Amino acid sequence: MIYENAPAKINLTLDTLYKRDDGYHEVEMIMTTVDLNDRLSFEKRKDKKIVLRIEHRYVPNDHRNLAYKAAKLMMDRYNLQQGVTITLDKSIPIAAGLAGGSSDAAAAFRGMNRLFNLNLSLETLSELAAEIGSDISFCIYGKTALCKGRGEQLTHLPKPPASWVVLAKPDISVSTADVYGALKLDDDDTEVPTNQCITAIETSNYHLLVNSLGNDLEKVTIEMHPVIKTLKETMIKGGADAALMSGSGPTVYGLMSRERQAKSVVNALKGCCKEVYMVRLLG
Ligand code: ATP
Repeated sequence: MIYENAPAKINLTLDTLYKRDDGYHEVEMIMTTVDLNDRLSFEKRKDKKIVLRIEHRYVPNDHRNLAYKAAKLMMDRYNLQQGVTITLDKSIPIAAGLAGGSSDAAAAFRGMNRLFNLNLSLETLSELAAEIGSDISFCIYGKTALCKGRGEQLTHLPKPPASWVVLAKPDISVSTADVYGALKLDDDDTEVPTNQCITAIETSNYHLLVNSLGNDLEKVTIEMHPVIKTLKETMIKGGADAALMSGSGPTVYGLMSRERQAKSVVNALKGCCKEVYMVRLLG
């Protein structure tokens, strides 16, 4: 039996540049990981099936699941003669902007690679990953990176300065496609400080880091769901050094340097958000 962890990601930045001819948006984003993990196990089967065990109301256990798609791609591409039973234990909230599905898929690529002794490099897995989803290439490494293109072109960065992260997932669902659909690129008045964020990471400057967060999709999702703005304000009032929506939302995260601050933010969120997690930045 092989085990893999699938950590959640957050966006320190997300800058939408333009819409491409293929329909995707060209983006520039700095992503990192936090210590909130789905757990997957992999076991070879005697037949050639892919069996996905998952008990979750909103997550499919068939070919629609990204972890299943990853396993299938590996079986087909490398002509594997045995199937796999994958058990998926979910902790990352669904459709949250935390790339839970993408991280599960990345774990499936790594897990299949180990289970069948394929000895593929992370670089090769990352290229395969881009065939099924934009964020999966990043999740293969699970390390802080500047991600360009539609998210699959990675430049790795050092670990950001040590931080506490409080995640608040409001009880609403947001479709990434709807958010990109409602995005107006010409009214892009707020600059996302990507280069400043890179400097903050490279110089391990926490103060600069908390002043270098930005997400172009935030105003779009806030217009649909004003609760996101309320959560940001609540985090700042509760003592967070910065607060931002991750990805296309709706999860909002706060950054804090001290555990005491993080606990105070968690307290401030009581009564306005049921799903709250206090974790460390993994980087
Ligand atoms: P992103 O940040 O990349 O936009 P997300 O966190 O918003 O991702 P996910 O939780 O990854 O969204 O999944 C969104 C949808 O994808 C779900 O509604 C679910 O039906 C489907 N899905 C497919 N595979 C998975 C998986 N392994 N875990 C969760 N959802 C999955």
